[in-house]
Amino acid sequence: MRLTFTTEQRALRAEFHAFAKSEVAPEAARHDCEERVGRALIDRLAEVGFLASLISPAHGGRGLDHLGYGLLHEEMGRACSSTRSLLTVHDMVAHTVERWGDDTQRRTWLPRLTAGTAIGAFALSEPDAGSDVAALATRATADGDAYRLDGTKCWISFGAIADVFLVFARADEGLTAFLVERDTPGLEVVPLAGMLGTRGAMLAELRLTGCRVPRANLLAGPGRAHPFIVTEALTLGRYSVASGSIGIAGGCLAESRDHVAERGLMEHQLVQRLLTRMTVHYEAGRLLTFQAGELIWERHADASMAAIKAKYLAATNAAEAAHDAVQVHGAAGCTPNHPVNRYYRDAKVMEIIEGSTEVCEGLIGRFGHADVESYGAASPKTY
Ligand SMILES: Cc1cc2nc3c(=O)[nH]c(=O)nc-3n(C[C@H](O)[C@H](O)[C@H](O)COP(=O)(O)OP(=O)(O)OC[C@H]3O[C@@H](n4cnc5c(N)ncnc54)[C@H](O)[C@@H]3O)c2cc1C
Repeated sequence: MRLTFTTEQRALRAEFHAFAKSEVAPEAARHDCEERVGRALIDRLAEVGFLASLISPAHGGRGLDHLGYGLLHEEMGRACSSTRSLLTVHDMVAHTVERWGDDTQRRTWLPRLTAGTAIGAFALSEPDAGSDVAALATRATADGDAYRLDGTKCWISFGAIADVFLVFARADEGLTAFLVERDTPGLEVVPLAGMLGTRGAMLAELRLTGCRVPRANLLAGPGRAHPFIVTEALTLGRYSVASGSIGIAGGCLAESRDHVAERGLMEHQLVQRLLTRMTVHYEAGRLLTFQAGELIWERHADASMAAIKAKYLAATNAAEAAHDAVQVHGAAGCTPNHPVNRYYRDAKVMEIIEGSTEVCEGLIGRFGHADVESYGAASPKTY
């Protein structure tokens, strides 16, 4: 089996690569240093259709398919993980609205999200509930034609600038998803600074105190967020992070290959081993990631587990590749603003977000064993 691209997919990849190289990569060190992605780049991302790129053209999106989406996020991950993070969380919100929203919600939000006039952020994590969704404590209390939200959400990427938050809270009926507009009374946004990696991702804490959200802003009704909305959003997020991680791994390989050639290090067998590991892990991660993309787009029953496996492999590969890339570069890799310095810190974050490495291992170890006997057999399961 070989990963082959159609002419159209090759053209998409060339487009994404050219944009990432000319407009994103040159800004990456600044994003990292100034801890922000600038408005001008966000506007450009919207202009070329990279924000909410999977949304259908009927709602203003580009309607990318699974491979196009993965290729875009791979190129963005290689150029700048903070920018790729913006696409990830924004797209998780847009996709949730398209998939689970009603007509009014779609008409209200999708044109704004695709045009970039509204930025979306995904608010699941809490101070005492990161990996463990069952521990979420933010409360939603019915109050006439609204719900009152009380609780704290933390580590919310692009929370500092988002216009609309997809907030998960516990109502009497169970976990419920709300679209919360930034200017809603009772919502306080507290920006965070000084993160280890994806430093331009403009994280924020959200403090919800009697925050009154109209019932019209519920997605799919009370108690309907788990498992479907949360799982589907996280599956997309994991595919994006997996794609971004192979971008990091590819960037590490390219930087290391060039440095090794320039410094005449290729004759050392232990350096060859580092490049070998980077190469085969990059290729393996890419195959597993794009296979997951295909299953996600087919709404296959194995899609969620495929995304967990792809994210697990791609993130751990990226972390190892970044570690080895700094090693291959020696002191040069430790200098400020060197790409491998940034890859090293960003790759660590990939092992924590969208299901930590250990959480993925727990899920794959318990529920995700490969079907060794019938591997590759057709199983057109959809959900
Ligand atoms: C840069 C960045 C951006 C983020 N952006 C967002 C965002 O936009 N929206 C959002 O909602 N959240 C976001 N997060 C939060 C992120 O999703 C959580 O950090 C992540 O889910 C881990 O949760 P935690 O930090 O509470 O760690 P914990 O869940 O407390 O985990 C701590 C350690 O224990 C391990 N562990 C926990 N549970 C298990 C288990 N069941 N089995 C084995 N090991 C386990 C973990 O692997 C980890 O090593 C972001 C985090 C970072 C760092």
